[in-house]
Amino acid sequence: SFNAVPLAPTDPLFGLMAAYKADTFDKKVDLGVGAYRDDNAKPWVLPVVKKVTSVQTISGTGAVHLGALFLAKFFSRPQDQKVYLSDPTWVNHTQIFSNVGLTSTTYPYYHPPTKGLDFDGFYGTLESAPEGSIILLHACAHNPTGVDPTREQWMKLAEIIRAKKHFPFFDCAYQGFASGDLDNDAWAIHYFVQEGFELCIAQSFAKNLGLYGERAGCFHFVSPPSSNAKEITKRIASQLAILQRSEISNPPAYGARIAGLVLNDKKLFAEWCENLREMSGRIKAMRTALHAKLVELETPGDWSHILKQIGMFS
Ligand code: PMP
Repeated sequence: SFNAVPLAPTDPLFGLMAAYKADTFDKKVDLGVGAYRDDNAKPWVLPVVKKVTSVQTISGTGAVHLGALFLAKFFSRPQDQKVYLSDPTWVNHTQIFSNVGLTSTTYPYYHPPTKGLDFDGFYGTLESAPEGSIILLHACAHNPTGVDPTREQWMKLAEIIRAKKHFPFFDCAYQGFASGDLDNDAWAIHYFVQEGFELCIAQSFAKNLGLYGERAGCFHFVSPPSSNAKEITKRIASQLAILQRSEISNPPAYGARIAGLVLNDKKLFAEWCENLREMSGRIKAMRTALHAKLVELETPGDWSHILKQIGMFS
């Protein structure tokens, strides 16, 4: 039996905290807790954190849907407002946006003669699109072409998106899968955030954590730096919470807990990065082997695009 289990002593730090709280001396200073405080002894919410509000979603699909629903309700722009999707894009994009009443159209993306990017067509369409259009961008490892813009091209796209006051909506379903490096694959998103854009991101953990059936994902809304960014993100978060509540009440916990564990533990995070390198490395090796075999068999045509494209698609 456990009758002999003694009562544990009160934690001295907790006792000290309680005594500090109860003390009415107006010049009291708390030197006990190892947490950063500002000049007014208040917790400091980092400016970078104030800009982001994030909501857990039903994987990447749920994140794209929540973003679409939020934009359909709150994004007030031109009457003929459209969502611009890449031609081609993930088949589900068109119906996710039409389901919430947003009309979509396309921007040129894949260039059949080069099996690469039709950058001029892409840029030109963003330039001629009505101001304030929603532009859906694949963050990396474009589905279904495997063709991504270069960094220089992303910078030019950012310029035209800013000039035309478009709203960038990033779909990030393959972070870490393309190059094996999380930062590298999120380069475009980081660049847009650094450039002070207001944007949103639909994030999936299905592929990069191999949690296909657990439906772990996230929707992020990033406000541009401003004095009232905190207030704006608070209002946006409250609306996102209502939308989620009415549709799914709460997202599933299991996959998200696994993702949370991996993301917040240094050792597990390092191991995950290693796993990502292994998966993306194998995808690259398969591309190389397929290319070599096609060349070896003297298959008619130029197959170099298989090596130039990235991720799982070609
Ligand atoms: N966006 C893109 C571009 C995708 O390819 C996918 C998955 N095929 C998704 C979103 C949806 O991801 P999830 O399986 O996490 O819902």
